[in-house]
Amino acid sequence: MKIKLEKRDKLLIVIVVCVALCAFLAHQIIGGDGAGKVTVKVNGELKGTYSLAEDQTIEINGGTNILQIKNGKADMTEADCPDQLCVNQRAISRQGESIICLPHKVVVEVESSESSELDAVTN
Ligand SMILES: [Zn+2]
Repeated sequence: MKIKLEKRDKLLIVIVVCVALCAFLAHQIIGGDGAGKVTVKVNGELKGTYSLAEDQTIEINGGTNILQIKNGKADMTEADCPDQLCVNQRAISRQGESIICLPHKVVVEVESSESSELDAVTN
């Protein structure tokens, strides 16, 4: 009787762990597209990490570039660089996408916590 209870308990633990794991994986998969974060680098130096889940406006490089995060996407809305290439780039939201402003050496890149772990392994 005691052994049976333990077996049942073990099964319950396995089920709970499976459900938790599935929920975690589902969150990771869904989060890969929508709820990632963007890193802002200036001249190769990390200036900040911002969640795509939060609507916000970020001044980069003391205001030379304005990055707007809205509806889970990051878009360079303003820049005082001569080419305006970064402003013309489309909004980014998927892992690995980036907006680069060459004149100001600004790099905005989407990444998820999952990908940075993978990067750490592959690097
Ligand atoms: Zn630019």
